[in-house]
Amino acid sequence: MTAVSLGVPGMPVRPVASRRESRLIQVGPVAVGGGAPVSVQSMTTTRTSDIGATLQQIAELTASGCQIVRVACPTQDDADALATIARKSQIPVIADIHFQPKYVFAAIEAGCAAVRVNPGNIKQFDDKVKEIAAAAKEHGTPIRIGVNAGSLDRRLLQKYGRATPEALVESALWEASLFEEHGFRDIKISVKHNDPVVMIEAYRQLAAQSDYPLHLGVTEAGPAFQGTIKSAVAFGALLSQGIGDTIRVSLSAPPAEEVKVGIQILESLNLRQRRLEIVSCPSCGRAQVDVYKLAEEVTAGLTGMEVPLRVAVMGCVVNGPGEAREADLGVASGNGKGQIFVKGEVIKTVPESKIVETLIEEAMKIAEQMEQDGVAAGEPAVTVS
Ligand code: SF4
Repeated sequence: MTAVSLGVPGMPVRPVASRRESRLIQVGPVAVGGGAPVSVQSMTTTRTSDIGATLQQIAELTASGCQIVRVACPTQDDADALATIARKSQIPVIADIHFQPKYVFAAIEAGCAAVRVNPGNIKQFDDKVKEIAAAAKEHGTPIRIGVNAGSLDRRLLQKYGRATPEALVESALWEASLFEEHGFRDIKISVKHNDPVVMIEAYRQLAAQSDYPLHLGVTEAGPAFQGTIKSAVAFGALLSQGIGDTIRVSLSAPPAEEVKVGIQILESLNLRQRRLEIVSCPSCGRAQVDVYKLAEEVTAGLTGMEVPLRVAVMGCVVNGPGEAREADLGVASGNGKGQIFVKGEVIKTVPESKIVETLIEEAMKIAEQMEQDGVAAGEPAVTVS
């Protein structure tokens, strides 16, 4: 067998764009803005007052790669649970507050890493800003001003007629200015809309008018397929211009799915080191093997592998050798056989029936070497070339 030099993969060669300069805030141990890596967050779906279930879901989110988690706080029982959840969670917890200003104070007192407020629906929010700013400053708690199209301040709805980008931005900047009057700037902002076109424009305007770190989100993006597409398109448009410091993909699906999509978006834009990646062709009339089956079997065999390995599974000799050569490991199939490539070199040719087991065997060897070299972890991602 050919000896292969592996080496440690570096950070992404070329990120999609240089980042917009933004103010740095700390959400617990996670830096947001100021050039810090774009973080991925999600939100629990359990009743926050059910501490066990909420911590269990946070543990699952943490395992899926979630870096910041938000929990709803609609009742006093939920507010009472915050201190325990914030203390026991392995990732920073943000309390999500609507309607009741008293829960903002409860969340700050509970030691949450940040508090999200929705100025559009919190009662007499503007009158409370002085007290909120004082409490947040005392505890070192950042505030997210989270403006949503669905709960926009009535005054702005009347002014603009609907939730336009301008209305969303004016709402956010107005509330930020109230905090600024009290010397409080430990703020990040979101201006979410369910329409990616409106959302993109709102964030562009906001990015041009302030230096606060931005939390990106397409709100109520829909079920997994539609929500994934909407979020990928909107985040891609913004992140490719350097706009966005932390992201939350909103799906009508289990929250761990949101995290997987968010991570994949960042990896696709080279904003994060890519992890295990299966590059498989879509197949066509030239395919000489069942590419779907092969890709599925290889993916299943490598699931759980914790190294950034690129594996090419190609159906014929048109693009096969080229892609297989570019990957860490690959197969180019044809005439009932598979040429196995490792780091650009053909190491062997095996019958079709042995392709999957050979790829998995070689992947294990490379992974072992990568682990010895201390290369970072991850779940597999599938890319169709
Ligand atoms: S690699 Fe071959 S089989 Fe796969 S899509 Fe390209 S031409 Fe078709």
